[in-house]
Amino acid sequence: MSRVGIYGGTFDPIHLGHLHVITQLFEKDLIDQLVVIPAGQPLLRDFQPRATGQQRFTMCELAVTTLPESIRAKVSVNPIEILRDGPSYAIDTVVALQASFPNDQIFLVIGADAFEKINQWHRIDDLEKMVQIICINRPGYKGLGIDINALDVSATSIREGRNSQVPEKVGAFIRENGLYDNQ
Ligand code: ATP
Repeated sequence: MSRVGIYGGTFDPIHLGHLHVITQLFEKDLIDQLVVIPAGQPLLRDFQPRATGQQRFTMCELAVTTLPESIRAKVSVNPIEILRDGPSYAIDTVVALQASFPNDQIFLVIGADAFEKINQWHRIDDLEKMVQIICINRPGYKGLGIDINALDVSATSIREGRNSQVPEKVGAFIRENGLYDNQ
């Protein structure tokens, strides 16, 4: 039985804070493999993503290629949510992933800010019976989860041009596609 982590997010864009989470999940031996899943139509957010689902998926793929080889081999990016119409419910994604990993234990990786809203998630009682949750602390949300010395970076700060902590390949993709100009 393998421990399969699911790391969902808007990833608009994926940044070095996310990659640090991914690296630490393996450094701390919390999971054996990880599936990164960009959200299609994210819930519980005030704004829809600036980049399309396909662009956010591509940025995740580019970012994963920059991980050390030993970790990269255990990480995949899955388009299941961006290919699905309608809202992205974590429980639907977990049900689909369970079919791909029938004998494995699924872990849901979420930041402490997202964890604070978890009681609002669709069918959270059912979801909690199906997965184990790994909550990761990030600056401003200490105390609830695992401490990984999270980086003080958010996708919002990158979209607003206040921060540039993205892998170089992702930065180039953002510039080439003019993604967060005219904020
Ligand atoms: P935004 O600023 O647009 O809200 P974000 O930076 O929070 O974006 P998301 O794509 O919403 O990024 O995050 C995906 C997941 O990664 C969430 O569970 C979030 O809590 C977590 N996360 C985001 N940034 C960090 C960080 N710097 N350190 C640890 N976890 C993070």
